[in-house]
Amino acid sequence: APISTHRPIQALPDQLISQIAAGEVVERPSAVVKELLENALDAGATQITVRLEEGGVKRIAITDNGRGIAPDQLPLALARHATSKIASLTDLENVATLGFRGEALASIAAVAAVSVTSRTADAPHAWEIVGSHHGTVAPSSGAHGTTIDVQDLYFNTPARRKFLKSEQTEYGHCAEVVRRIALARPDVAFSLSHNGRTIDHWNVSEMARRSAHILGSDFAEARLAIDESAGPLRVHGYAGLPTASKARADGQFFYVNGRYVRDKLLVHAVRAAYQDVLHGDRFPSYVLALDLDPSLVDVNVHPSKIEVRFRDSRAVHQFVFHAVQRTLAKTSATDHGSVPA
Ligand code: ADP
Ligand code: MG
Repeated sequence: APISTHRPIQALPDQLISQIAAGEVVERPSAVVKELLENALDAGATQITVRLEEGGVKRIAITDNGRGIAPDQLPLALARHATSKIASLTDLENVATLGFRGEALASIAAVAAVSVTSRTADAPHAWEIVGSHHGTVAPSSGAHGTTIDVQDLYFNTPARRKFLKSEQTEYGHCAEVVRRIALARPDVAFSLSHNGRTIDHWNVSEMARRSAHILGSDFAEARLAIDESAGPLRVHGYAGLPTASKARADGQFFYVNGRYVRDKLLVHAVRAAYQDVLHGDRFPSYVLALDLDPSLVDVNVHPSKIEVRFRDSRAVHQFVFHAVQRTLAKTSATDHGSVPA
């Protein structure tokens, strides 16, 4: 039957509000992986294990050795708009954590079967909450840190479930998210398994090694280190030489204050810097991190925070462009045996 247009205005039930929010936050299994990894990093984890089943649709279980959640806080972790990361507008404008919206776990719990098991450093044992913030908190077992177990994604929202792609496709997106985040944090050990098989394991290492692991030896053998600063801006990482370029744009990793972003302005700045050394149909490979004062960038543009807005976007564009261009110019001058002007 058609939905009546003659209903009175009424407040939506909590669960439905979270399911609506989940539409934005939890686009697909990889979005869950991203949110849980960010939470683990925000909790100071140095070791993170990601276990996936059936492309993440059947199960996503992420275990970290971070600071954990006290038992009386477990319901709040699953409550909407509840966060330990900001408490005021000033905090929001200076946010240095990856999360701050306080809605990821609530959204995930609205569209999947979730349990959170956690043990803080001073707790004699772990505690667990199942289902939602209405669930009871019960004693459990486990090491210091947190495990968040997400099963049967979209089991209660069948319309949503229909939009999922094949297991292999969803798995690929999840693995990509793990790679992106692992690349930004060589100081953290990661492991990834799918259907019980270990796919990747990265020990704590240096950026040079981590990026060689993730981007492969082609990149490792043909890259230039960058580290330039100007005023409040710093860009560092590696720019691949033209020989490390690709036919697809899948070797491009840009981070702003540790957060992976796909930002048109930044992609353009790097692309422009490569203009003189790379054919138009090739895509440069790079791993670049831009660090700046958090107050100079707005990360609260999009629920998944993949886009950012700079207070002075012209200055950022110029800075990144010149830093990459200068780095590339150094070698093209040597390569061709010419003397720099
Ligand atoms: P946000 O990250 O925006 O604060 P979330 O819904 O992702 O919101 O998480 C809610 C809260 O639960 C966090 O603010 C944090 O205090 C706690 N939390 C979530 N995951 C973890 C974790 N892995 N370790 C410790 N605390 C966590
Ligand atoms: Mg979060």
